[in-house]
Amino acid sequence: AKKMGRNRFCWYKAEMEQQQLDKFNLMMRLRLAVKQQLFTLAYQPTYDLTTQSITGAEALLRWFDAELGQVPPDVFIPLAEETGLIQELGIFVLQKACAQAKSWQESGFSLNIAVNISAIQFKQGDLPAVVTKVLAETGLAPHALELELTESVLIEDRMLVKQQMEQLSVLGVRFAIDDFGTGYSNLGYLSQFNLNSLKIDRSFVARIAQNDKDLALVDGIIQLARSLGLDTVAEGVEDPQSLKLLLRAGCSCGQGYFWSKAVSVDEFSALL
Ligand code: C2E
Ligand code: CA
Ligand code: CA
Ligand code: CA
Repeated sequence: AKKMGRNRFCWYKAEMEQQQLDKFNLMMRLRLAVKQQLFTLAYQPTYDLTTQSITGAEALLRWFDAELGQVPPDVFIPLAEETGLIQELGIFVLQKACAQAKSWQESGFSLNIAVNISAIQFKQGDLPAVVTKVLAETGLAPHALELELTESVLIEDRMLVKQQMEQLSVLGVRFAIDDFGTGYSNLGYLSQFNLNSLKIDRSFVARIAQNDKDLALVDGIIQLARSLGLDTVAEGVEDPQSLKLLLRAGCSCGQGYFWSKAVSVDEFSALL
């Protein structure tokens, strides 16, 4: 910096450059990790609230990097989307999760597998082909696979997504809206897309035992879903009081630390 007055600016600039460097490093590590398949999947069970039995597993990506340690998906997924690496990573998740579900089924446990899909995975228009191939290779029945989409996916590229969802629905693949309530206020898509369930975001579920308004909101979402013939999954159930309230409100399923966090294959098998 030539002038004193610029010091502040330079300091911010240095910080920004550092951030960009970190991001660049993270991107390089991510690219390497995708190439070397350094990812694993953790599985979080979903429970039927009335029977307290496991109905399915949600596959959640885990990345342990030798240099960076455990990198949370909230950090690397957006980066994988930005770089397009999510395409390859997404196929890996589908393959691995469907193969695992098939293996659990062969051991005598009937359960569904839920896989998170990001908007980018619809961009090339080949998601139905990718899913068909994975189902054929793993031998998993299409109705045992549920794809989780956020509201924003249904809003962007509306026709492209709708078309592919229809093809997948014909196969028997199911769809859930993830983080329901955090996206858009226009609910028109609920009747326009082929959906099977709504996953109520944990930001609403977290405080239902403490806050009457949050309870009213969750209650309303459950009524709405039921009137549309959709299942409801409450995310982030952490305590028995919340479970009681959800049951009373007519919620069908739940997921959360009250039962289990996302765990390894072996730990999940022990829960079955
Ligand atoms: P999500 O799909 O909403 O997944 C639920 C997240 O909440 C998971 O975090 C899970 O570990 C956490 N969670 C579950 N129960 C509780 C609870 O009772 N309390 C609290 N506080 N948290 C709970 P995770 O595994 O860190 O994943 C974060 C996000 O990363 C996911 O949110 C999803 O959007 C994304 N993600 C993870 N795996 C994949 C993937 O394979 N593909 C894509 N596209 N996104 C993924
Ligand atoms: Ca999800
Ligand atoms: Ca969610
Ligand atoms: Ca989320």
